[in-house]
Amino acid sequence: MKNLTRRDFNGLMIKGAGSAALMSVTSFACAMGADQDKKKLGIALVGLGSYSTYQLAPALQDTQHCYLAGIVTGTPEKEKIWADKYGIPKANIYNYQNFDEIAKNDAIDVVYVVLPNSMHAEFCIRAAKAGKHVICEKPMAVSVEECDAIINACKAAGVKLGMGYRLHSEPYTQQVKQFVKEKTFGDIKFVSAEAAYRSTGNPDQWRLNRKLSGGGALMNMGVYAVQSTIYGTGENPISVSAQEFSTRPEYFKDTDETILAQFEFPSGAVANISTSHNFNANSMYVSGTNGWFQLQPANNYGPLSGKTSNGDIIKFPHESQQKLQMDDFAKHVLMGEPNKAPGEMGKRDMMIVEAIYASIAKGGQKINLDLAPGFGFGGD
Ligand code: NAD
Repeated sequence: MKNLTRRDFNGLMIKGAGSAALMSVTSFACAMGADQDKKKLGIALVGLGSYSTYQLAPALQDTQHCYLAGIVTGTPEKEKIWADKYGIPKANIYNYQNFDEIAKNDAIDVVYVVLPNSMHAEFCIRAAKAGKHVICEKPMAVSVEECDAIINACKAAGVKLGMGYRLHSEPYTQQVKQFVKEKTFGDIKFVSAEAAYRSTGNPDQWRLNRKLSGGGALMNMGVYAVQSTIYGTGENPISVSAQEFSTRPEYFKDTDETILAQFEFPSGAVANISTSHNFNANSMYVSGTNGWFQLQPANNYGPLSGKTSNGDIIKFPHESQQKLQMDDFAKHVLMGEPNKAPGEMGKRDMMIVEAIYASIAKGGQKINLDLAPGFGFGGD
């Protein structure tokens, strides 16, 4: 049994290094603006809930190309706590009302929106209008229409837009993409992906309130399983059929509890996903004509873990996924490196989410998806 390590991974990656370097130089030459003169970008986190508090702010203490420069909060008590803990000057602290003033603050280069899903569009658009680059948490918004509005606002303002899809910056997911691209296990025929956890907390939390969340398990966790099928096949799906199951309607009054969905891909590959707020599941299995590989866990904060039909263990040193993700976005802004999770990726996933809900509404009928090949794919 062989361990696939970072060294093997780099070895494989080196094959593409010449063209990657060329691309990077070309886009760097095209890149405009003062951002390139900065060594580190200042990030302002909007919404200081659990993800900002326990993942993003700590990760920003270790990032090389960006740092925690500011905060935007609707809770005045948090201002002093965060200012003291992270040395944030008063001038870089905003609330939801005076947020637009951030346009005048050169210390803030990037606004990272970490609010309940229904608030993403408003704050991403306000950030773009203030001339700031934007990172939007997943799911991008509560409708495709809102995703378009965010993308258009960023284009109109000439700012960069990235999604908080941390897995695209971590090595296990990159290894999956590489297996698929290089056909290490032949032509991919089947993917199974699960992303779920059992929710038993406060029934009034925003994730269970459709107005704030846009939907339940599918919006929260299902997007990871959908993504697994896409990087597990290397293709966008052409159709989906889906079913919803409910066993605790008294708790999940307003949002979906469990959804299963089946996808078809242009190559003929098929995929099955499950997502739920009623059970725990976290894996992806990919079967090709010459073998299989799997990650389990596949989508938590890591360390992830994987193995292949060759008897190899997939193993990389653990690093904060959020640190890698925010540094990748900063390198995209500063050095013209590829955007690993562009806004179009968030929009594509929302198109798939809407098709899944449409299929359920039509009793599981197959819904065709009209996604251009490669639409929403990030750069490697
Ligand atoms: P949370 O409930 O812990 O925090 C939400 C924050 O929004 C709080 O600071 C709260 O005060 C603020 N808020 C403002 N208006 C609100 C309202 N009307 N109702 C509720 N809260 C309100 O949530 P979280 O776990 O930090 O999630 C925030 C976003 O980050 C969501 O979009 C979520 O999907 C995303 N997220 C992503 C990951 C990831 O791995 N990429 C992980 C967790 C959360």
